[in-house]
Formats: sequence, C-alpha cells, structure tokens
Amino acid sequence: MSVPGHDAKPSRVRRLVLATNNAHKIKEIVGILDGLAVSILTAADFPDFPDPEEHGATFEENARLKALAVRANTGLWSLADDSGLEVDALNGAPGVVSARFASPGCTFADNNAKLLRLLADLPDERRAARFRSVAALALGDNEVKLFTGEVRGIITREPRGNGGFGYDPVFFVPELNCTFAEAAPEAKSRLSHRGQAFRQVAKQLRELLAEP
Ligand code: IMP
Repeated sequence: MSVPGHDAKPSRVRRLVLATNNAHKIKEIVGILDGLAVSILTAADFPDFPDPEEHGATFEENARLKALAVRANTGLWSLADDSGLEVDALNGAPGVVSARFASPGCTFADNNAKLLRLLADLPDERRAARFRSVAALALGDNEVKLFTGEVRGIITREPRGNGGFGYDPVFFVPELNCTFAEAAPEAKSRLSHRGQAFRQVAKQLRELLAEP
C-alpha cells in the first residue's frame, strides 16, 4: 500500500511499515501521515509475518514490542500503535485488554455490551473514561521513539452511530456533543488519542526526512 499525492523524488521516499492489520486504524493513520515522503506498507504486505503477541502490561510496552518485531522482520522504519479504553469506575479496565474484553476473539459489539452491562447502575457523573494511544516508531533494532495521546469522554447508556470502530459507539465526547461513531472521521481524528499521537509521529518523520 502506498500513499499517493506527494511531490518528493522517488530516491527521497522512505518505506515505513505500519505494524497493524486493523483496517480502521490503518485508515486513520494513513490520513494523518498523508503528504509525507514515505511509502506506507502494512503487515498485510508481508504475509509470512507472525502476529506479535501482546504480552505487555502497558500500552507503551505493547507498542514497543509490535514496532520492534516488525522492524526485526523488515529492517525498515516501523510504526505501531497500542491503544484502548480506560474507564474510571472500572479502575482503568479494559485497558490493554480492550480488544478482547468480553472474551478472546469477541466482536466489538460483545465488548460494548459487556461494558454497558458493567456500568448499568452508574449515574452519568460516574461514567467518565478515556481513550489512550501510544505510537511506537522503531528507527533501528534498538531505537524506538514513543508518542502518546489521550481523549476524555463519557460512556453512553446505549450504542449510538455507525462510524469508527471498537468502543466508538459508546464513547460520548462533550466537545463534539456526539459519540465518536456519530462524528465525521476528520472530527474524530482532530480530537482522538490516535490523532494526537500520530500527529507527533508525523512531525518527527518530517524532521527525519528533512535531514540531509
Ligand atoms: P489494539 O489493537 O491491541 O491496540 O487494541 C485496541 C482496542 O482498543 C481496539 O480493538 C478497540 O476495542 C479499542 N480502541 C482503540 N482505539 C479505539 C478507537 O479509536 N475507537 C474505539 N475503540 C478503540
């Protein structure tokens, strides 16, 4: 997969591998890196890749693990994201297990249903949560730079909207007056945890690409 629409000469274009197969994340990240002199590949371009297991206890650890695994397999600049939802009333759960909160291999709808069930008796003022994203940029076999973003919101009482993915339908953002699943993709990206983290990555890449 490559990003069209930039004017850089081919010799200046660096290859960058996104260490994810999540099509939603890829779309959000590619949108933010648009215009940079990088040719973007994904794990799907390397079919023999083992999926790195996410054993880490933190988003930081997992993002670093994923970026370094892809770096070790490709020798290319590698970029990973580990992210999830932290609900105040659940002491930060689901956190690093956000993708498999309901059960291994579950759907986004299963996760949202479990979350709404756990919070069923809580009033609005106790439904605060945040999304966090940690982006890890592996520039060498042992050289990783981390960038973080977070956005605060409130867990709704029922899913609302069809956009986005994951917990977006139950994550109400006061600044947008709607859930992330009801927001336009650009509005989500402007405020989101991933948008914040990857705009820092874009800035870092721009500086690196400008180096002689
Ligand atoms: P990861 O792929 O291990 O980083 O898992 C991230 C999980 O956190 C996803 O499967 C979603 O359940 C949740 N998540 C992360 N970012 C978002 C988002 O932007 N919207 C909704 N859910 C998200």
